Amino acid sequence: MRISKIVVFALGWCALGMSSAQTVINLYSARHYPTDEALYSEFTRSTGIAVQRVDADDAGILARLRSEGSASPADVILLVDAARLWKAESEGLFLPINSKILESAVPGHLRSKPNEKGEFAWFGMSTRARIVVYDKSKIDRQQVDTYEKLANPSFKGQLCIRSGSHPYNLSLFGAIYEHMGAAATETWLKGLVANMARSPKGGDTDQIKSVASGECAVAVTNTYYMARMLRSNNSVEKAMAESLGVVFPNQSSWGTHVNVAGAAVARHSKNSAAAIKFLEYLVSPSAQNHFANGNNEWPVVRDLKFDNPALKTMSGGDFKSEVIPISAVGMNQIKVQQMLDRVGFK
Ligand code: FE
Repeated sequence: MRISKIVVFALGWCALGMSSAQTVINLYSARHYPTDEALYSEFTRSTGIAVQRVDADDAGILARLRSEGSASPADVILLVDAARLWKAESEGLFLPINSKILESAVPGHLRSKPNEKGEFAWFGMSTRARIVVYDKSKIDRQQVDTYEKLANPSFKGQLCIRSGSHPYNLSLFGAIYEHMGAAATETWLKGLVANMARSPKGGDTDQIKSVASGECAVAVTNTYYMARMLRSNNSVEKAMAESLGVVFPNQSSWGTHVNVAGAAVARHSKNSAAAIKFLEYLVSPSAQNHFANGNNEWPVVRDLKFDNPALKTMSGGDFKSEVIPISAVGMNQIKVQQMLDRVGFK
């Protein structure tokens, strides 16, 4: 477990004339995007509630919550993947949420399953699509316009992809399982392993660069890594990204797989009302715009106007995303992990 830093956003304390009795929420965040800081300070400015942030990776946050137990000071948890959200939910680390604002803002398939009282363990706050990038000199777009085609034997030795056990891939494979069923998913995974240019290593950005450098011809990545390169001040990285073809797979079938970054209230929160207020703030138009423009994600709130040229360039303005429940995707990870072990997907 690695806790990298603790930051208190107390902007507005003086301006609002708040005393030391001011409400503070403790936010455990796996979102380590510098642009998120503006989000938290805006919340403090408008509500007077200070945000004390603990940054760690997802596994670190879960480990910390487990060890702190009922003494945990955590109020809000931000995690960046459906598989991890489901895991934390299944371990009972979240407090069920009852909020009409969240229920009307976040589409039904982008949140946890409701409990018997109709309450939710977590809500998606932003989405990211898992797309295909390819070398236009070696591959035609229609050869890679579905996830299924990545297992085509004609791509032997040409596929780059990060570890199968990484939550981004577990969620993608969990979605494929939902769409195609167990047997077809395992055959497909076997095909991916057979097509690998090298054994999985690195993050999504490394896969993009491996296509640009010619090590492989096709790779899988989350959209924001590609958008980050397209908007990069580093001209070499920018040129690499611009040279590649981009496909949002399965536009004529079930739609491209999208994952969520989501938020929850900690099981032992002593400030659950303020925590819910923070979650409700995250679905406000200005917070949703931060997600879109700051970290190149798509807002979960429908029909929200935002302007991100990189997202527009990649998707051609809009794209069809899958609408299966993201909660089911998270739940499939255990079955998928067993398949990965069987087919030797490291
Ligand atoms: Fe990421």
